[in-house]
Amino acid sequence: MTAPITQDVLTLPRKLPEGGKPNLVGMTRDQMRAALIEAGTPEKQAKMRVGQVWQWVYHWGVRDFEAMTNLAKDYRALLAQHFVLEVPEVVTKQVSSDGTRKYLVRIAGGHEVEVVYIPETDRGTLCISSQVGCTLTCSFCHTGTQKLVRNLTAAEIVGQVMLARDDLNEWPVQGAPKNETRLVSNIVLMGMGEPLYNFENVRDAMKVVMDGEGIALGRRRITLSTSGVVPEIARTAQEIGCLLAVSFHATTDEVRDQLVPINKKWNIATLLEALKAYPGLTNSERITFEYVMLDHVNDSKEDAHRLVELLRGIPAKVNLIPFNEWPGAPYKRSSGNRIHAFADIIYQAGYSSPIRTPRGEDIMAACGQLKSATEKQRKSATKTTVQG
Ligand code: SAH
Ligand code: SF4
Repeated sequence: MTAPITQDVLTLPRKLPEGGKPNLVGMTRDQMRAALIEAGTPEKQAKMRVGQVWQWVYHWGVRDFEAMTNLAKDYRALLAQHFVLEVPEVVTKQVSSDGTRKYLVRIAGGHEVEVVYIPETDRGTLCISSQVGCTLTCSFCHTGTQKLVRNLTAAEIVGQVMLARDDLNEWPVQGAPKNETRLVSNIVLMGMGEPLYNFENVRDAMKVVMDGEGIALGRRRITLSTSGVVPEIARTAQEIGCLLAVSFHATTDEVRDQLVPINKKWNIATLLEALKAYPGLTNSERITFEYVMLDHVNDSKEDAHRLVELLRGIPAKVNLIPFNEWPGAPYKRSSGNRIHAFADIIYQAGYSSPIRTPRGEDIMAACGQLKSATEKQRKSATKTTVQG
């Protein structure tokens, strides 16, 4: 059942969209500086120009060079001649009765990925994708049944955040009092794909999102979820510095090999070693252990006790995810009783063990089993679908 785990996936040329002009969206400051110089910006001015364009694009949300009114007309024309400012196109938007929003967005090549916005009382979380499909084949994950099509570019990853801010009307208005309430206050890389198999693009995109002169989300507001790509874990701390979640899902190698086949390459012991060494790990920056609750597969009391043993020495919290069933899935969701019994054991051992509440079920917005459900649903044209 398990396909070989490979990393040799198709990545688009870094900054060239289909139209040919480079997209300034998604470039780091250094990359933008080099691009502006290449387009004729005098080297001496380049840093200042990057600062100006950056503020327009990432602070004000402006995507039209003409509107960048503190730049001379000639310079605006030069920018428009050489560059585009593009984010993925929203194809459909669905709003759940609980406020969850799901966007189906189209990227170059006609591929589609989903972005989900989950409003809660104290935060608004945006779940974004890093790949179209996934090379890995976790047996409970719907994305795992789809072939990897390609890595998303940094522009397409940052663009998911920008289009959500567009839709939520979250860009500041010039002259208006500063609004400190963030609608998109947190980002989770828990959509489609394995972010650590698209490391550079994910890193660059998160650098843009974290930059204090723009969208300015702090590194602790970003959580990257990995199935356990051990060699990239230390780099994640060093080069991104965000919080880490790991799709743990089992307490023995035998079961984890079945659920998360990357375990055959890097087993539980190897994974835990890498997590223990996650630099800067303190109790305030705990690692989230995601644990999908599959009926009679990984949800026994013995599993809960084993999990507690494995967590020893790691500042951790356990996020229990009731399995989201999909048509043809080989598993069932654990009963409420089994989930609560499991959660209690973890909690008694001193770890936070929240049970994730399913959100947006009426629009099938489950983060972690994205896209295909929408395609089916779209064919039967549902009530809440709005053309974007
Ligand atoms: N590839 C990364 C991130 C995307 S998946 C990873 O595996 O961590 C985000 C989370 O959703 C993971 O913990 C994943 O195991 C979980 N998930 C996937 N399919 C699911 C399903 N059908 N029900 C519940 N959780 C699921
Ligand atoms: Fe890929 Fe994550 Fe799904 Fe596994 S759980 S197949 S790594 S998206």
